[in-house]
Amino acid sequence: MADRWYPVIDYTLCIECGACTNKCKHGVYDPEKLPTPVVADPKACIDHCRGCGNLCPAGAISYVGDDGGEHAGDCSCGCSC
Ligand code: SF4
Ligand code: SF4
Repeated sequence: MADRWYPVIDYTLCIECGACTNKCKHGVYDPEKLPTPVVADPKACIDHCRGCGNLCPAGAISYVGDDGGEHAGDCSCGCSC
């Protein structure tokens, strides 16, 4: 659980491919809203996971709490990001 790390969608860039919602296994996104990404449970996001952001073809996902890459690629949430 992360209080200060969760994805934010730039809807001006998002092409609604659904990849982020389908990728995340932690219930952060609301699957009922597919293909539109809706961050329904930000606290479920794993600290410094970038699984959905790395998958986004539009560069539409950024993270609250992003410190500029200190832990870039260091995902330990176990979802094969
Ligand atoms: S960063 Fe990881 S845990 Fe957080 S929403 Fe994206 S895939 Fe899910
Ligand atoms: S992966 Fe990117 S483009 Fe696709 S739905 Fe998510 S935010 Fe939008």
